Amino acid sequence: MSLLPYNGLALDRASARRSDEAWLSSARRHPDARVLAFWRDGCLTRDGQPVTVSEEPHVFLGANGRAGVFAVDLSELDESTARTRTGADAVLDVRRLFPVVDAQEAATLAYARGMLHWHRNQRFCGACGGASVARQAGHQLECASCGRLLFPRIEPAVITLVTSPDGARCLLGRHRGAAPDAYSTLAGFVEIGESLEDAVRRELVEEVGVRVAAVRYQASQAWPFPAGLMLGFRAVAESEEVAVDQEELVAAHWFTREDLRALQATHRAAGTDRQDSIESHLLQTWLDEG
Ligand SMILES: [Zn+2]
Repeated sequence: MSLLPYNGLALDRASARRSDEAWLSSARRHPDARVLAFWRDGCLTRDGQPVTVSEEPHVFLGANGRAGVFAVDLSELDESTARTRTGADAVLDVRRLFPVVDAQEAATLAYARGMLHWHRNQRFCGACGGASVARQAGHQLECASCGRLLFPRIEPAVITLVTSPDGARCLLGRHRGAAPDAYSTLAGFVEIGESLEDAVRRELVEEVGVRVAAVRYQASQAWPFPAGLMLGFRAVAESEEVAVDQEELVAAHWFTREDLRALQATHRAAGTDRQDSIESHLLQTWLDEG
């Protein structure tokens, strides 16, 4: 299986070094060290490529040999000041950079975006309201008042390709407000007290009224947009009867492989396909089986 987008970061996260100030400082001063800069979830870029800046970083991402890779959040500046100060000409979403940077750069940028988003949204302790202070090179926050430790938050979501009992068709749904031909696999967040398989079964009953026999884990994908971890499953429906929950979906249909290839061709032609998501992988795996 080829690597899914944003997975397989090659940087050494060097978790044992995160409290070693001397080592971090040397990694920061290395001639190949990089500090990536973000502004409100967007990456500061010049000519379509991320800029490297000299600002004091907020987070250590990892090491490339002895050179450190860091990230800084400039959201407190206004956008034009952030651009001028860093020599950037744009602020681009990481998912928009995905087609033009290599796989390692995409994984690094996604990781940086997720870490900085967490910092920006965890400025205070949820227990006492005290200010949080960075520890472990930005991988922990500690409440300055009560000492509570806060860890980067990851929100798991299940995404499932459901096939018909005979395996010849797959079930895709269209969300409320989506374009007329925007059919996608079914997905939802895992709730507290659920296993991943429980979440898959619940989501399918809630959204499309489908009970499934086997549920099989297929692959996972880092999805820090802003804090997701996507867990991809394959499930086999007990029957082809569908009862769509009109709150979330407007329709759900069974697609043959031929139908799905035609739908994908339409999306490619319109430029609306999303090649960086695990959904493409789940669909392609099923297409390749037929
Ligand atoms: Zn506190």
